[in-house]
Formats: sequence, structure tokens, C-alpha cells
Amino acid sequence: MENGEGFLADTEPQRTELGSIHGEGDWQKIAGILRKSIGADAFQRWFGGASWGGTENGKGTVVVPGEIHQVWIETNYLPELLFAAGEAQEGIHHINIAVAESAVTPGRQPVLSEPQVRKQLPGDMLDKRAKAAGLNHDYTFANFVVGSNSQFAHAACEAVSAKKSVGYNPLFIHGGPGLGKTHLMHAVGREILRRRPDCRVIYLTCEKFTNEFIEAIRKGDIEKFRRRYRSSDVLLIDDVQFLAGKERSQEEFFHTFNTLLDGRNQVVITSDRPACEIKSIEPRLISRFECGLAVELQPPQLETRMAILKKKILEWKVTVDDSVIEFLAENIRSNVRRLEGALVRVATFASLAGESVSVQKVEYLLRDFIQEEASRQVTIDGIQRAVAETFDVRMADMISRRRPASIAFPRQIAMYLSRSMTHNSLVEIGESFGGRDHGTVIHACKKVTAEIGKQPGLRERIERIENHLRR
Ligand code: ADP
Ligand code: MG
Repeated sequence: MENGEGFLADTEPQRTELGSIHGEGDWQKIAGILRKSIGADAFQRWFGGASWGGTENGKGTVVVPGEIHQVWIETNYLPELLFAAGEAQEGIHHINIAVAESAVTPGRQPVLSEPQVRKQLPGDMLDKRAKAAGLNHDYTFANFVVGSNSQFAHAACEAVSAKKSVGYNPLFIHGGPGLGKTHLMHAVGREILRRRPDCRVIYLTCEKFTNEFIEAIRKGDIEKFRRRYRSSDVLLIDDVQFLAGKERSQEEFFHTFNTLLDGRNQVVITSDRPACEIKSIEPRLISRFECGLAVELQPPQLETRMAILKKKILEWKVTVDDSVIEFLAENIRSNVRRLEGALVRVATFASLAGESVSVQKVEYLLRDFIQEEASRQVTIDGIQRAVAETFDVRMADMISRRRPASIAFPRQIAMYLSRSMTHNSLVEIGESFGGRDHGTVIHACKKVTAEIGKQPGLRERIERIENHLRR
């Protein structure tokens, strides 16, 4: 995606009349054609904030609000855009995508300084450097299947790797387990090394950071520890939620983080939840996490799950029936790691048995995966919402410490359902209801069970909520 001389250099947003296409009206014409060819959703997402910059010598300029739009459009929509512009106005043979000047924070420098044009690393050197940086060979952009669940996160990662990352610092990637956070983070590291071999890239988990920090204190060589991390050009810190409750490590991380950001070095962070939801972490650290760009990975849609499975099958050179792929994609929804795990199990069985596997067999082989999947999809949060809606109380009441009778019983029902429908412990359930203890949850479960025997219609009401949640 390197653009040679770069799009920005020769495409200052130009709003004067440069050619016969100018102004809103003409952009509307192009936009109309484009919307039809790429679909309304994609159009809205990527071109909703775009405007026409003008034409000069057959070159048209589209001005977009951010670099992420620029990267994404250049990678995915240039042919369609060129076609649409050509339809609206004869003689356009080239399109530039420029970022609106207002999108660049004044005074900010590019995060990584561009060395004079350098050769890219040969493959085996890149592998060595990547390994030394702690990067996994298999986690590349090429191996990552992009779906609507991940396209924004993916585009942000590409933008950071391509150094078009002014202002995306830190890049904060969050999302549930097994959705590709670590994969994308490694891909960023590898791509940066490929483009700028002399960059000092370090990947590590937050757990490792904490352990090394404690070890450094124990050995009395904290200076060395600090030098190592504070002198990196790109620091990739995985699973930052691990810092919760570890005050000294938080303090150390805060200073490392500030040193890197002040030096305009790139920091990428992943977390299993949004920054503001990480418990027991200092507010100043959270606000630091929030000062860059936060992107979310969501569970993939059915088509994306199928595409991921097909890609893995090619990578692993195994043969699996299409009906089995469909079965896996339909039944394992919430986590790509588990999807992969299921495929490994099926493929291993097939190769050991020396035969292709039927859907019935797969159903049997994966019964534990499928069962767990069914119970995993229900979350405490989902239960609280559903109960709040059914009993017409506010979601905030579910987690508040107030105890008027009108909210107490719906809250107890939500606790009861959390106990029966999720794998969360009593303590975790209590925590999610405004920090109550596990005894309160046990009491709620007993109370609801007793009331189901007494109150007419209550059982049906609760069953309706259960069915709604399972759907
Ligand atoms: P997380 O860090 O979010 O828990 P990982 O990045 O470890 O998840 O991903 C789990 C597994 O699923 C990895 O093997 C990864 O390669 C794979 N994976 C996740 N998302 C994708 C995707 N979109 N395309 C291909 N593989 C994926
Ligand atoms: Mg991970």
C-alpha cells in the first residue's frame, strides 16, 4: 500500500475551482454512482464525510476526514471511485485521496520518523528481526480475514503500520477473547519492521511487563528495564487489563507510556474491554489510553466465519467438506480461537481416521464446544438488560446500591438467571450487580425459586426472558 511519492504530497486539499467538476452538486453525482456500486453501508461508512477537492489535468481529488479513510479507500475502493468519477465527468483518469487539513492535529509530528527511502528487509532477515521483537510468524495482515466486525480495527492497524498514523497514539484495540487482537497487533509489528527495518519494535504481554518489572526490582537493575522499554520506537503491549489492581506496575507503565508518547513513539495496546471498563486501574492511566484512537473487534458474522475457516483450511492444507465448514461456522460464533480449535479437532480426526467426516460425526466430536458456545452467548449484561426491559426498571437500577422493593425483585431475578445461564461465579455475579457479595446472590436464587412456586405466571415470565436471551 506504499504510494511512492505519497498521496498527501501532491494533493493538498484544493477547494478552488480547478476543473469542470466542483462543489457539492458534482460530488453528489459521483457519490450517487459510487453508492450504487459499493452499497449504501460501505458508502456511508467510508465516504459519508468526503467532499470533492477539485480536478486538475485529469486528476481528481477526494478529500476525506481522516487517514484511516484514506488508507481504507486507497486499498479497497479506488477502482470504483475512479469509475464513478469518470462516469460523472469525462477525462478523469486518476484519483487522489487527500486528508482534510483539519484532521491533522497542529504541531504533531509523524509518530515515526521516516528514514530516507530504505530497502525493505529480505524475508529471512525480517523473520529474524520479527522473532527478536517477540512477534509470531503466522500473525500477519495477509493471514487476517477482514469482515465488517473488524474492518475499522484492521484499517487503523494498517494506518499505524504505514506510518499514516498521526494522532493514532496510542492505538487501543479492544474486544472479547479470541477475536484477533493479538493477531492484529503482531501484524502491525511485522509490517512496521518490513517497512522500516531499523525500527526498534517490542511486543510483550502486559503480564510479562509486570513480571519483568518485579524481577528488575528484586535484582536491583530497574534502570536496565526502563532503558529497554523506554527506548523502543514501537511498543506493543498485549492484554493491558492485566494491570488491574497492580499499582506499582501501573505506575511504571504510566511513565514508560508517557516517555514513549512524548518522544512520538508509537504505542499499541490491546484489552479485553474498553479502557473505561477496566476495573481497579488509575484514572490517569485510563485517560492516557483514551487519548489516541480506540477500535473494537466484534464477533465475526457468519460469512466472515466461513471465510476464516476456508483460509485456515488452505493454510493448513487439510480437506474438510463444505457442509462441515458450514456447520462449524453456524455453531461457533463468539470466538475465532474456538472456531480454529474446532477445525483442528475435526481435521485431526479426519486425518487419523483417514476418512472425510460427516456432520453427525462432527456434532458428536464437538459436543463440548457447542454446549459451551450456547451458554457463553448469554452474558450478565445481556440478562440485566432483558430483565430491566421486561420489568420496566432502568438498567442503572440493576447495578445501583439502592434497594427499594420495586427494583429488588427484578434484580434478584437477574441474579438468578445469571447463575443459571452463565458460567460466572457467585462472586463475579455479585460484582456485576453493584459490588454485592456472593451471599446476596445465593439469597436471590433461593428467593426466586421460592417465588416461582408461589406467584402465578412468574415461571412463564422468566422462561420468556430465557428464550429471548437464547435466541
Ligand atoms: P485475542 O488476542 O483477541 O484473544 P487472537 O489474536 O489470539 O485473539 O486470535 C485467536 C486466534 O484466532 C489466532 O490464532 C488468530 O490467528 C485467529 N484469528 C482471529 N481473528 C482472525 C481473523 N479475522 N482472520 C484469521 N484468523 C483470525
Ligand atoms: Mg490476545
